[in-house]
Amino acid sequence: MMELQLKSGREKSLKRHHPWIFSGAVERVNGKPGRGDMVDVRDAHGQTLARAAYSPDSQIRARVWSFDSAEEVDAAFFRQRLMQALALREALPAAKHGNALRLVHAESDGLPGLIVDRYADVLVVQFLAAGVERWREPILDALAELTGCSAIYERSDAETRKLEGLEARAGFVRGNRAAARCPIIEYGLNFKVDVEQGQKTGFFLDQRENRQQVRALAGGREVLDGFCYTGGFAINALAGGATRIVAVESSAPSLEVARENLAANALDASRVEFVHADAFAHLRTLRDRAAQFDLVVLDPPKFAPTAAQAKNAARAYKDINLLALKLLRPGGLLATFSCSGGVDPSLFQSIVAGAALDAGVRAKIVERYSAAADHPVALEFPEGEYLKGLLVLRA
Ligand code: SAH
Repeated sequence: MMELQLKSGREKSLKRHHPWIFSGAVERVNGKPGRGDMVDVRDAHGQTLARAAYSPDSQIRARVWSFDSAEEVDAAFFRQRLMQALALREALPAAKHGNALRLVHAESDGLPGLIVDRYADVLVVQFLAAGVERWREPILDALAELTGCSAIYERSDAETRKLEGLEARAGFVRGNRAAARCPIIEYGLNFKVDVEQGQKTGFFLDQRENRQQVRALAGGREVLDGFCYTGGFAINALAGGATRIVAVESSAPSLEVARENLAANALDASRVEFVHADAFAHLRTLRDRAAQFDLVVLDPPKFAPTAAQAKNAARAYKDINLLALKLLRPGGLLATFSCSGGVDPSLFQSIVAGAALDAGVRAKIVERYSAAADHPVALEFPEGEYLKGLLVLRA
């Protein structure tokens, strides 16, 4: 019997059904479980609280599969969890307006460490924890069967794999095809997704509905997109009737895809200027030239993956938001985001407030944004809520 026994008093988070067991909560491990093996988790009195995947190298020593101590964890278990995740997505309005969705959102879908994104008929999977890595083959089989997708690309190359003692792995695991430009449709717009080399799994599906918001706000406005990646917000602003768009991005390969995405839509491409630059430096240059915009979008990368990095991240968020607010005409809008897990919504709001104060502008929040509904947040797992955004109106 493989067991993980908790220290006295350390069962509280499990009783709230939080799925992580940290190394510091573990009193003893019985039966020499290997990486990804199933362990029964017991409290100090020997009562079984959960069944979990063991991860000997990680601070997150185990991730819970089930709080039912009698539930079998086998191929049928994974098939069932995947079916539930797919059913949730089929019922979403967004499923009718495009062919790209996040099908599995890890812990919040009861599958800790597993990400699955669908781009038309290609699935991109990430196995980011020891438990799902251990069940990789049955999961891939079930995904192929349940989705009907014959091509599955693995992007298990995220840094977090290292924390689990896992090597990076990338490439086709089912089927094969050219995947450097997978065409998708999002609310009638065409995008190409570089599944092989793009960031994360290739596209930021979490911003889908927020891109629609920007599209709806952009009519007749001059727009600045500070971190444009492959053109998501910029092209939506153009589709929404923006008169001019400046889109900044520091990654040359991302900009190349952005240009192709712009060309893939029947829109007036001459209104868009892509700038290959560091956004901090370029926004400063724009400020020095006294440039002005009516709508600024800031969707920077994750400055603070964990709370420990929040302080430096706060500085970066403040700097970039301060610059953006200075570039706004009176009556202009700033759509500003943070995808840092370590910066919670109230901290983010206070950072933006500080930026407005230092910029010498008065502004108010007129809307709040979060990740699209195919990125659910399990109530017992607040860590699942990483993306937050504010729409700020400059007085
Ligand atoms: N809004 C985009 C996603 C943005 S992801 C969408 O909807 O698809 C954040 C982007 O910021 C990445 O493409 C990354 O390459 C870029 N980036 C990171 N640091 C940057 C910097 N200092 N200046 C400009 N771009 C940067």
